[in-house]
Amino acid sequence: MSSLIGGIYPPTLDDGVERDQLVQTIKDWTIANGLAVRPPPAFADGEFEGALAISAPVTLFPSPFPKACFEEARAIQTKYNELYARISQDEEYLGSLVQEVAGGDDFIANLWKVHLRVKEEGYVQNLSLGLFRSDYMVHQDGDNLQIKQVEFNTIASSFGGLSTQTSLLHKHLAKTEYPLLKEPVSLPPADLPPNPSAEGLAAGLAAAFHAYGKSALGHQTCVLFLVQDEERNVFDQRHLEYALRSSGAEPIPVFRLPFSQILTHTTIPPSSPGRQLLYHPPQNPARTFEVAVVYLRAGYGPADYPSQSAWEARYQIERSAAIACPSVLTQLAGMKKVQQVLATPEAVTSGPGALRRFVPDSDGDATYQALWKTFANIYPLDTSPAGLEARRLATDPEECKRFVMKPQREGGGNNFYRTAIPRRLSEIPESHWGSYILMELITPPPLVNTILRNGKLEHGGVICELGIYGTCLWDQKTGAVLRNEESGYLLRTKGDQSEEGGVAAGYGCMDSCRLV
Ligand code: ADP
Ligand code: MG
Ligand code: MG
Repeated sequence: MSSLIGGIYPPTLDDGVERDQLVQTIKDWTIANGLAVRPPPAFADGEFEGALAISAPVTLFPSPFPKACFEEARAIQTKYNELYARISQDEEYLGSLVQEVAGGDDFIANLWKVHLRVKEEGYVQNLSLGLFRSDYMVHQDGDNLQIKQVEFNTIASSFGGLSTQTSLLHKHLAKTEYPLLKEPVSLPPADLPPNPSAEGLAAGLAAAFHAYGKSALGHQTCVLFLVQDEERNVFDQRHLEYALRSSGAEPIPVFRLPFSQILTHTTIPPSSPGRQLLYHPPQNPARTFEVAVVYLRAGYGPADYPSQSAWEARYQIERSAAIACPSVLTQLAGMKKVQQVLATPEAVTSGPGALRRFVPDSDGDATYQALWKTFANIYPLDTSPAGLEARRLATDPEECKRFVMKPQREGGGNNFYRTAIPRRLSEIPESHWGSYILMELITPPPLVNTILRNGKLEHGGVICELGIYGTCLWDQKTGAVLRNEESGYLLRTKGDQSEEGGVAAGYGCMDSCRLV
């Protein structure tokens, strides 16, 4: 990709004042503007009692990203939003995929049980909100650069708050610092695209809040963020909260509640057929708010469900009248298994594939083809002919090096790469292999950048992953789509020796795009 830029980029900095000056500016800007995270517990437990923040890991320069790929990913987001809204509505189809993985995956089985319990008594809320993020890497095949989807997130899609700030940081440096370097860098504003991710995600939450309407019980309505107890990425969430609070003429009340305290601070009045979710703020339990929207930044993995009462808490949210972001069905639509069946060619399914099911001909072939182009090869590990072939590849000591194997999990750190795949498979019963999928590794073009993490610089080859946010509000019963927007982007960058790329999981860092 360096051929697209010309010259050496990013420039080499001298080891002395030049580098220190840039680093100091970044350290100050990040804290001054909330591009920050809480420090790890070892630091946080000291004498500062929760008053510490540290700069989020960032690149010194925005990484080059092909403009055509960036535009393609943005342009397709509303189609992806609609696709996943439709999948969420197809309970029967989702149920069949859940059955395929549930045998080896209690977590997915338990989520499905929550849905079935609520289905039995009947859902009282038909509206569903998705704050999605579709993640891609640029796949290089000779001279051809094409975005390939890494995954589609339907729950707790994070970094929309920090991402806006990262774009602003790099814009600031482009004005103040880069032109002063010994090898000056000139980045015209048009090469640094605007990134309204915080505002866009907040607008999605606001749309659901307003669609909920007034409380039939006469309470003030609110938005409830469900969060993890020891969340370090709290400022990312706060940026969304602050944007949401100030998004309209009327202030929207927003509360944060640890997932573990749902049953302590929320109730559903037994006498009310509307099953309104009531929130009682811990600081003043005499006050009652009615929850219009529940935004989950927790509950996406087994660690948030240490006991049956946590599952009861999720059930309470799901059966309530609050608009869930996401509902259980929408969360399940984000299973890697779903992505795998969408990406399975019709030659293999010998009949209309999953993508056809959700993108009917009436949508036009262009939509189908545009989505199809973004899929990498993904295989089941079941006992179908395609699955058996994938099992052969996954257990072959050479072939396995082309793949990553994924369970139905979120949040980073769960995958098995290359030669770890046969090792992992040998540890689990064959009857559970079907709860994983096998995906070809995407090979992005080589890039170089410097990451500033915990005050230290890491220079070397990097790999970038682009996420496009989407916000979608729809009616599960009628299929009507009330909102469907592309909502900004995330660029995450990791060292090219690291397999995983999650910023929160400690592997990646925040970045922004220099379009080339
Ligand atoms: P999670 O839901 O845990 O984030 P992902 O599917 O995003 O799971 O995988 C985690 C990370 O693994 C990605 O951010 C990316 O760095 C790497 N990864 C996943 N799939 C691929 C792939 N097909 N090719 C290359 N890297 C991948
Ligand atoms: Mg994910
Ligand atoms: Mg991911």
